[in-house]
Amino acid sequence: MYQNGHLATGFGMNSVGKIPLGLKRKGLRIVVTGGAGFVGSHLVDRLISRGDSVIVVDNFFTGRKENVVHHFGNPRFELIRHDVVEPLLLEVDQIYHLACPASPVHYKHNPVKTIKTNVVGTLNMLGLAKRVGARFLLTSTSEVYGDPLQHPQVETYWGNVNPIGVRSCYDEGKRTAETLTMDYHRGAGVEVRIARIFNTYGPRMCIDDGRVVSNFVAQALRKEPLTVYGDGKQTRSFQYVSDLVEGLIRLMEGEHVGPFNLGNPGEFTMLELAQVVQETIDPNAKIEFRPNTEDDPHKRKPDITKAKDLLGWEPKVPLRKGLPMMVSDFRQRIFGDHKENAA
Ligand code: NAD
Ligand code: UDP
Ligand code: UDP
Repeated sequence: MYQNGHLATGFGMNSVGKIPLGLKRKGLRIVVTGGAGFVGSHLVDRLISRGDSVIVVDNFFTGRKENVVHHFGNPRFELIRHDVVEPLLLEVDQIYHLACPASPVHYKHNPVKTIKTNVVGTLNMLGLAKRVGARFLLTSTSEVYGDPLQHPQVETYWGNVNPIGVRSCYDEGKRTAETLTMDYHRGAGVEVRIARIFNTYGPRMCIDDGRVVSNFVAQALRKEPLTVYGDGKQTRSFQYVSDLVEGLIRLMEGEHVGPFNLGNPGEFTMLELAQVVQETIDPNAKIEFRPNTEDDPHKRKPDITKAKDLLGWEPKVPLRKGLPMMVSDFRQRIFGDHKENAA
């Protein structure tokens, strides 16, 4: 009945023969694990708006009902509180597997839980994909490249990762998740897709998740100093969330397994990022240096040639355009509507 996302019955439809004439495209049944989180909720918005039926599976570790509350009452939307470390039976056409804390503060909070989510959680979702013949997309990460010795990072680079470090629950966890994904593909014929996502920002990020963009924006709005870790010369490349969602959908719908780097090649030092935040929010915001965290990658920038060539995808929103959109969301959540102009 489920043919890898090509034959979608859609909720309430029993057979292909019953599609009304003239209906352009049948809605797919799609599960988004981690769909109440930052990236997941934006993906859900896109899938719902194009007519698909979406089941969000989330344990609310870092996700929030508020991120998807606007879909409550829509018959094409369902929210299940569930931990992907436990098996799950569903009938779907596609699985976007995002469930996993993404901020270093969150994933280091309970490292054993993080690696279980990456390994056992991914295994369960692959088992589900195998059983129902669904197409499976893994949201892996640029962290699989570790502290990279190649710059920018190309998908063929195998990475430089510490297997026993404080970040290993996340980066080694995601590497194992990639391995499982490829083994289910080769061994069980599951249709899979792998995205390696680079640092992404935008509205609905957790305000206090400790990631650099959310920290700097919240700090500048609250008139606190921007905390730059180390000497601030380490680099990251920041992608606006709508660009990522477009890339994930193109990857899922396309014919290529990947892995694909999905990121914005615009590279910034943390000091440069602090400067952009100052320009955007408060030119008088102070900078405070703090000791850096262990195993912090020195630089990171995606080579996106493969995604450009095979998916026809590239980011459209530069940091200076994307940041203001995130700032208005943060302003509203920190100060509330009535004080919107307070900062
Ligand atoms: P997020 O923390 O906002 O979202 C993760 C979601 O997964 C949350 O809703 C959380 O409650 C849920 N979750 C966590 N563990 C779970 C479990 N065991 N069972 C069910 N649900 C669980 O993070 P995000 O930024 O939206 O990241 C989404 C995905 O993208 C993650 O897999 C992350 O590794 C990947 N990624 C994100 C970035 C980024 O910069 N945002 C970069 C690289 C990779
Ligand atoms: N699984 C699941 N939902 C399903 C099918 C499987 O959660 O619809 C889980 C199952 O419990 C197992 C994992 O996925 O832990 C791997 O399943 P698979 O059938 O590949 O392996 P096996 O069960 O034979 O070890
Ligand atoms: N960072 C910083 N100040 C902060 C938070 C983070 O300077 O308040 C630095 C951090 O040391 C790292 C970079 O910003 O070099 C990106 O950190 P983040 O946690 O956002 O993401 P990741 O390390 O996973 O790329």
